[in-house]
Amino acid sequence: MPNYRAPLQDMQFVMTSLAGLEHLAALPGYEEVTPDLAEAVLEEAAKLAGEVLAPLNRPGDEQGASLTQEGVVAADGFAAAYRQFVQNGWNGLSADPEYGGQGLPWLVAAATVEMWNSANMSFALCPLLTAGAIEAVKAHGSDELKTRFLPKLVSGEWTGTMNLTEPQAGSDLSAVRTRAVPQGEHYKISGQKIFITWGDHDMAENVVHLVLARLPDAPEGTRGISLFLVPKYLVGPDGSPAERNDVECASIEHKLGIHASPTCVMSFGERAGAIGYLVGRENEGLPYMFTMMNEARQKVGLQGLGIAERAYQAARDYAKERVQGRLVGQRSGNRVTIIHHPDVRRMLLTMKSQIEAMRALGYVMAADIDLAHKHPDAEERRRCQRRVDLLTPVLKGWCTELGVEITSLGVQIHGGAGYIEETGAAQYLRDSRIAPIYEGTSGIQAGDLVGRKLTMDNGSAMAELITEMRAVERELGGSDNADFPVIREGLGGGIEALEQATKWVLETIRRDPDAALAASAHYLMLTGYVCGGWQMARAALAARARVASSGQEGFCRAKISTARFYAEQLLPKANALSTMVKSGASTVFALEEEQF
Ligand SMILES: Cc1cc2nc3c(=O)[nH]c(=O)nc-3n(C[C@H](O)[C@H](O)[C@H](O)COP(=O)(O)OP(=O)(O)OC[C@H]3O[C@@H](n4cnc5c(N)ncnc54)[C@H](O)[C@@H]3O)c2cc1C
Repeated sequence: MPNYRAPLQDMQFVMTSLAGLEHLAALPGYEEVTPDLAEAVLEEAAKLAGEVLAPLNRPGDEQGASLTQEGVVAADGFAAAYRQFVQNGWNGLSADPEYGGQGLPWLVAAATVEMWNSANMSFALCPLLTAGAIEAVKAHGSDELKTRFLPKLVSGEWTGTMNLTEPQAGSDLSAVRTRAVPQGEHYKISGQKIFITWGDHDMAENVVHLVLARLPDAPEGTRGISLFLVPKYLVGPDGSPAERNDVECASIEHKLGIHASPTCVMSFGERAGAIGYLVGRENEGLPYMFTMMNEARQKVGLQGLGIAERAYQAARDYAKERVQGRLVGQRSGNRVTIIHHPDVRRMLLTMKSQIEAMRALGYVMAADIDLAHKHPDAEERRRCQRRVDLLTPVLKGWCTELGVEITSLGVQIHGGAGYIEETGAAQYLRDSRIAPIYEGTSGIQAGDLVGRKLTMDNGSAMAELITEMRAVERELGGSDNADFPVIREGLGGGIEALEQATKWVLETIRRDPDAALAASAHYLMLTGYVCGGWQMARAALAARARVASSGQEGFCRAKISTARFYAEQLLPKANALSTMVKSGASTVFALEEEQF
């Protein structure tokens, strides 16, 4: 079974050379965040990921979580690993020190999130959802809710969930029916939620559910949805879990992947009604939930990256061991490992170059989030927030779609051995498949990008981004290294394609919204590929600057070649996607429903 080793060199390169870790140290609260500190944190995280979480991945997949009379029991070893995770302070790494967090930049935490997901995606989902709950309560909860729940959620002693989905309310949350009836200081919640990740388990002493529900007199649709905090155990006067609340897991789903992450049907108020506390104001729950979902969407993007990295490591190691065939043109002589075959190299570089592009985009966005929160200049904060808003659906949609493609390539490199379970390659593919579905499907991300993020400022955030990309394109000129003109040409073509498609979408969306939405998935992928090319070009420039001085010559040369591969083999997709954006919509409604 392949081990997981965190790609620390690339992570540190991206953090320092592309995401501007040093500049973050100038922000209030981050004064002590030096590259040395970040390195030490990542090394410790890498140990936990490689030595504790990764070995549980396969047995967790085989055993899964189970529902017993006492509730959901996590797969063997998970509870002990979670205790270690909490005791070592990983849960609150970037959380607010006011509530016991360590207050490190999100950039540093993002690298750890990648590692947890590479090592064990099922495990990583539990803290991912807790972090979303922390954000929602911190941003919108009363002081009392914050005092009572945040310290335990931040430490990880209690975990959080996100209870949105109901059988009739998936992508369309306006159809939520769970009821909330005011009763004195609190509300009585009743109804059923489905597909709730880590909705119940035995790894922590309490589970804090954030639940969307509707008041009896609430307006129809999304404007009548409120957000409630519903703990599994009510909290006693001393702050510890006391009486059991009327909420339980009715069943857990049997599913394609992430078997060790219990996906629960949750029943609220089967007996006396579950006690829930309003978060923020009545009927304003949906925007609050988006606080949680935006944070979760960025992390699910990092999941796509994490699972792709794990699949790449397994495929690379296998390609170096598996002996099959001879070198091209040789009929005799020694048989060689499959990494010598051109097509296997193509697949490995397709995996590696896209993973590095995703990592760069994900970490650069993480730094933008830090800047958007902490930069002393208000205009700079707004600029970074615009960028984060624009690119959150891209990070989520593009990285998770690539996660599936890359884990599938991982199976391919293993040949038949990849299709059977022993190598682990099949599990990575199965696990990756959920990421383009939950936290808003790729279709929903694409609609958000085209229908809201691009259009709400008439394309100015995108124009700002394209201007930055053009500046990088110019920097690529005038090099005597043969790789750089190729990288420049690839990036230039990508930017041109993105510009044209953007113009088309902006012109079309008001006139014919169906056409723009029919093109939206292609537009999202196009934006992702070009953003990836932009970051790989920046990486190549940074590697060129470092190559002589850093003692990392091999790494830097490989980075430049990988950026060239991306420019030559991935960026041409931008042109095709741009053509598809501009023409594909014409036939989408050409067929009558019965013709499908
Ligand atoms: C393993 C797992 C874990 C999950 N964890 C959680 C959780 O913790 N909490 C939670 O609340 N939910 C959770 N979910 C639910 C998940 O978020 C939903 O499944 C997802 O949002 C899609 O909703 P749906 O399944 O109802 O699909 P539908 O909304 O029915 O969508 C079906 C198809 O139609 C498309 N579609 C629907 N509406 C539109 C539209 N307006 N525009 C374009 N395309 C559209 C979708 O893209 C999709 O392809 C989980 C689901 C799974 C499988």
